[in-house]
Amino acid sequence: MNIAVIGAGMAGLRAAATLHAVGFCVTVFEKSRGAGGRLATRRTELGNFNHGAQYVTALHPEFQSFLQQAEHQKSVRKWQPHLLRGEKATAGAPASALKRTNTAADIWYQGSPQMNKLITPLLDPFEIRKEHRITCIETAGPRSFILHDDLDGEFGPFDGVIVTAPAPQTAELLQPLAPRFDPIADVEMAPCWAAMIAFAKPLPTAFDAMIHPDPAISWAARNGDHRDLIHRPSPDLWVLHASPEWSRDHLEEDKERIAFLLLEKLHKASGAKLPDVVSINTHRWRYARTIKPLGKSHLSGMNGRVIAAGDWCLGARVEAAWRSGKCAAHAMIETLIG
Ligand SMILES: Cc1cc2nc3c(=O)[nH]c(=O)nc-3n(C[C@H](O)[C@H](O)[C@H](O)COP(=O)(O)OP(=O)(O)OC[C@H]3O[C@@H](n4cnc5c(N)ncnc54)[C@H](O)[C@@H]3O)c2cc1C
Repeated sequence: MNIAVIGAGMAGLRAAATLHAVGFCVTVFEKSRGAGGRLATRRTELGNFNHGAQYVTALHPEFQSFLQQAEHQKSVRKWQPHLLRGEKATAGAPASALKRTNTAADIWYQGSPQMNKLITPLLDPFEIRKEHRITCIETAGPRSFILHDDLDGEFGPFDGVIVTAPAPQTAELLQPLAPRFDPIADVEMAPCWAAMIAFAKPLPTAFDAMIHPDPAISWAARNGDHRDLIHRPSPDLWVLHASPEWSRDHLEEDKERIAFLLLEKLHKASGAKLPDVVSINTHRWRYARTIKPLGKSHLSGMNGRVIAAGDWCLGARVEAAWRSGKCAAHAMIETLIG
C-alpha cells in the first residue's frame, strides 16, 4: 500500500509513523524546507527562536507516555518558567505574584534543544519530500490518487491520501474532490503575529514568561534558560505573540511596522525599560490557533481513502494534532486492510 501524507507537522508525522509501523509505504510531502510545521524554530546567528508553539502539555495518558519517552531520548525537556499571568505582569510585580507553573497535572514540555526537535521520535525512515507544495489531488480510478505540486511535479499513484494542512488549506485541496469535505470550511482558525527579539542585555524582569499581559499580547517569553543568563553572554532572546484580535486587525501590515508596534506593546506590558535591540524579526502565522474545531478526530471521504486531519479537528494544541494524526492513520488502516 502506497500512502501519501501531506504536511510534516505533528499530525502528519504521527499518521506517517503509525502507517509505516504496520508496513505501509509512506511518502510525506511538505511545502517548507523543514519538518515540524507550527512546532517551529528560527535559527539565527544570535540563537534559536521558537516562534510557533511554546510548550506542550498532555491530558491523555498515551500522549503523556509519548512525551516521557521523548524526554528519555532527550528530544524534549520539562520547562518551568517564572510565569506571570494577566495585566499585573509588570517588572515591578511583587515576588508573590510569580508562579512556578508545574504541578503534577500541569507539566510543560519543550522540544530540546529547540521546539522542532519534539517530532524527532516520529521520524521513522519514511520519505519526507520537502519543498513540495501539493496543489491538487487527482483521482486516477476509484482507488488511486495522483498528487501534483506547484513545480509541475506529479507523484503516485497512491492508494490513500491523508491531508494535514491547516483547515483552510486542507479545504482548498479536498473540497473539489467530494462534498463530504464541505464541513472543513466551517472550522475557524485565528492568525498570530510573532516577534523574535534579541536584546543587547537581559530584559530586567523577574519573570521569563507572561500570559496576556496586555490586550494586544497573548504571550511573551524568554527563549533559553533564565538561569543561564549569568553565564551566557548577551543577547537575551524573547518571543512575543500578538493576540488573535490584534493579529487579525494588523494582518496585512508590513513586517517593519509590526515589529515597531509589538516592541512598544512589550515595553508597556513589561513595565521595564527595554535594553537596546540587536535584532528583531517577525513572522505572520495566518492559521495559528483553532477557534472553532471540526469536533471529531478526522474526516474521511472517497470510500475512506482520503482523510483530512490536523489539530483543527479537535482543538488548538499539539496534543490535538497528535491524536488526530493517529486516528486518521487507524482509519486508513481500517479502510485498506480491515
Ligand atoms: C504562534 C503559535 C503558538 C502556539 N502555541 C502553542 C502552545 O503553546 N501549545 C500548544 O500545544 N500548541 C500551540 N500552538 C498550536 C500548535 O503549534 C499546533 O496545534 C500544532 O503544531 C499543529 O500541528 P499540525 O500537524 O496539525 O499542523 P501544522 O504544524 O501546521 O503542520 C501542517 C504542515 O503542512 C504543511 N503544508 C500545508 N499545506 C501544504 C501543502 N499544500 N503541501 C505540502 N505541505 C503543506 C505546512 O507547511 C505544515 O508543515 C501554537 C501555534 C502557533 C502558530
